[in-house]
Amino acid sequence: MFQVRFGPAGRPLGYNGATELACDYIREIGLDAYEYQATYGVKIKKQSALKLKENSQKNDVLVSMHAPYYINLSSNKDDVVERSIERLVQSARAAEWIGAYRIVFHPGFYTKYSPDEAMGRCQKAINILEGQLSSKGIKDYTFAPETTGKKSQLGSLDEIIKICEVNDNFAPTVDFAHLYARSIGGIKDQDDYSRIFSKLEDELGIKTLHCHFTRIEYTDKGEKRHHTLRERNYGPPLKPLLKEIIERGWNVNMICETPFRDEDALLIKDDYQLILNQK
Ligand SMILES: [Zn+2]
Repeated sequence: MFQVRFGPAGRPLGYNGATELACDYIREIGLDAYEYQATYGVKIKKQSALKLKENSQKNDVLVSMHAPYYINLSSNKDDVVERSIERLVQSARAAEWIGAYRIVFHPGFYTKYSPDEAMGRCQKAINILEGQLSSKGIKDYTFAPETTGKKSQLGSLDEIIKICEVNDNFAPTVDFAHLYARSIGGIKDQDDYSRIFSKLEDELGIKTLHCHFTRIEYTDKGEKRHHTLRERNYGPPLKPLLKEIIERGWNVNMICETPFRDEDALLIKDDYQLILNQK
């Protein structure tokens, strides 16, 4: 049980020390989650990864890991799918060392395929991935495919739920800003958030959620750019989300992906505590 936690996506901006000791800083400033980012390749050495794990446990900071961006499990090119699977295998191995409870990744793009065809290709790749992991003896992992922000990307809420329904060791990452951008501003109030939570609960039977939050700018194609929390002219709205989390009583790990990730995670936490105290 981890209740509700907040932390940055990647190294805190105010911290210049070693990655393996980042959780000292995160705990010190009042946060309790950290998404380690391997977004440009899994480069961490086993030794540092094990230190990061030990340090996060000492500080009671919940660690997740973001796998490389360059993953496309539904590509029409076999070598791209192969390399994507390889990156996920590398991620799973590193995640085991780090003790990351989730491995976040973006599943892929539709390219020339219909959503159904892309889902089929993605599932085929996941089957190969699972075979490779088991043959390498990697067992302790939870992949967390993320809802994606562009309409060209595989990763609507329904698709992410479907992937997690079918595969063991899979749980969703809900990026609320991506859902907002993808639906062209479709999240306006607490009812909109409530529908998302109900869907997850009804279809996956979960009351635990790994999620991302940022303010986001979008075009008619979806996600364009992340913005800071104080730029309130960009959505999605934060307070209705925090209210929904509190009223549902879920365990939620919220990773802040704004340009000010650690500072803004603290602002989100302040808002959360304010709402909690009003109840
Ligand atoms: Zn995200």
